[in-house]
Amino acid sequence: MEVLRGIAVSPGLVIGRMFLLEDEERRVVRRFTPAANSAEEVSRLKAALETSVADLVAVKERAEDEMGAEAAKIFLFHIGVLQDAALLEGIFNRIENDRMAAEHAVEATFGEWAGRFASMGDSAFTTKVNDLEDLRNRVLGHLMGEHNRTLDELKHQAVVVADDLTPSQAAGFNRELVQAFVTDRGGRTSHTAIVARALNIPAVVGLRGVAKLAEEDQTIIVDGLEGVVILDPTDEQLDRYRARQARMERRETVWKEQAAEPCVTTDGVHIRLMGNIEFPDEIAHVLEVGGEGVGLYRTEFLYLTSDTEPSEEQHYEAYRRCVEHMQGRELIVRTVDLGADKYTQHRVELPERNPFLGNRSIRYCLSDLPMFKRQLRAILRASAHGPLKIMFPLITTVHELRQAKAIVRDVMEDLAEEGVPFDRDVPMGMMVEVPAAAVIASSFARDADFFSIGTNDLVQYTLAVDRTNERGADLFTAMHPAVLRLVRDVMRGAKSRQIPVSCCGESAAELDFAVLLIGLGVRTLSVGSYSIPQVKRLVRSVSAEECARIARRALSLESPSDVSAYVRERVRKAVPGAFDSGED
Ligand code: PEP
Ligand code: MG
Repeated sequence: MEVLRGIAVSPGLVIGRMFLLEDEERRVVRRFTPAANSAEEVSRLKAALETSVADLVAVKERAEDEMGAEAAKIFLFHIGVLQDAALLEGIFNRIENDRMAAEHAVEATFGEWAGRFASMGDSAFTTKVNDLEDLRNRVLGHLMGEHNRTLDELKHQAVVVADDLTPSQAAGFNRELVQAFVTDRGGRTSHTAIVARALNIPAVVGLRGVAKLAEEDQTIIVDGLEGVVILDPTDEQLDRYRARQARMERRETVWKEQAAEPCVTTDGVHIRLMGNIEFPDEIAHVLEVGGEGVGLYRTEFLYLTSDTEPSEEQHYEAYRRCVEHMQGRELIVRTVDLGADKYTQHRVELPERNPFLGNRSIRYCLSDLPMFKRQLRAILRASAHGPLKIMFPLITTVHELRQAKAIVRDVMEDLAEEGVPFDRDVPMGMMVEVPAAAVIASSFARDADFFSIGTNDLVQYTLAVDRTNERGADLFTAMHPAVLRLVRDVMRGAKSRQIPVSCCGESAAELDFAVLLIGLGVRTLSVGSYSIPQVKRLVRSVSAEECARIARRALSLESPSDVSAYVRERVRKAVPGAFDSGED
């Protein structure tokens, strides 16, 4: 028996048999051919490339059906690479001029490109190196005739165990058979993690050692909510997890039944519960579990699933679909938040030393007005189909907010001149995710129609802890009294102008922090759709007045652990079971 802890990237609890996806290194012989054979090698290569592209088109179509067009764009990048003129020229030159056999030329050219990407030393490139390896293996598979052998061997339900998985492998999974997957490598923002969540396949990544310890057909428990994996569990562990699984299933049924119940505290205060989305298709789940709207649409995922910048039409299609799906409910579209850990490959020509403190988010948009305006045109055009709000990320100075709003108005003038319909009164708000903005929130309140507190960044910038570094995970907490005081400052600033405040960071879904947010006066929480039922359950069991008392005292405490212990004790006393998982 072995218990491993990794990064939970897609929720769900699965007990299954392991299927080891061997990371087979294809051994390519360094073979050369006589000049007379070059034409034959070229035609073999062309056939392999054609079949590979056809495979990818099929994978893309399947992904489109199952996850929606945005998520499937990952595979457009793959198709684009296999049709990239520079890459193909490199391979054909090696065959025709260097006399390499097709396999050897493919291996050498992809190897050269992967080496170049790896030497960039940026996590965005590491993901692309994996993509290149995946593509190389696909082409070699067709040349050598053993493509995807191990995945094709999967004939029964199983949990896939691998060192790492590429997005196309994950999207190619037969969902009837693959119950979950676990990997040694990977992070929460990798394409593979995005695919897992979009496909609703429980997954734990970053386990560092699972592939070595795992044995084919052995039993495995995957807890995609806590990030725990148990190999070869004991009978007692199996009984415990089976009971938990049954409770979770019952809980999910109850939660869906309760989706229509009002989200009000015991003293009658309505807390608006909204969903965070990355793809338009996620809206269906947000509404199914009782979300009242979308409090954060992370539009940069349009860029992150494609190798080219989305066109105005692609932006517009995505936003129009969202607006139509929402049928008048609130939809907050955040303008692109690229940069830091969210670079697209071709945007990193000049890597920054501290990208989280660099040209990211609104700064990035303001430095590339054509790109920013393309998105704004599309958002405004979509606003003609139903209500939406525009939100700017990482606002740090009032000047930035005014600049962003002025650019929106410029775009409005252009559209008006062209006779294109849009909502002239579209509300424009901002994320409060930099301590500077929280401290002078009252200044921003004059120009912003609403605030949304982004604790993911607010915590990392306040506590100086990188949100993506697993080694800082223990220090990363919104329960720090400094963070609470910043939230209080934001609420005070908003009150001066009566503008609404929501919280859309991951911490809004942490129940003890949600108590404090309610206590500090936040009345809208926006969380991942799978967290909506649990947060609603908490809201319906606490009183806003009691939350306010708890928050007042928490503000005066010294450390995050003091705050956590105090909140838990007080809430448990007032509402026994408020923090339970709701499985019973
Ligand atoms: C945040 O920073 O809290 C936030 C919601 O934005 P993101 O996670 O996309 O940076
Ligand atoms: Mg942020």
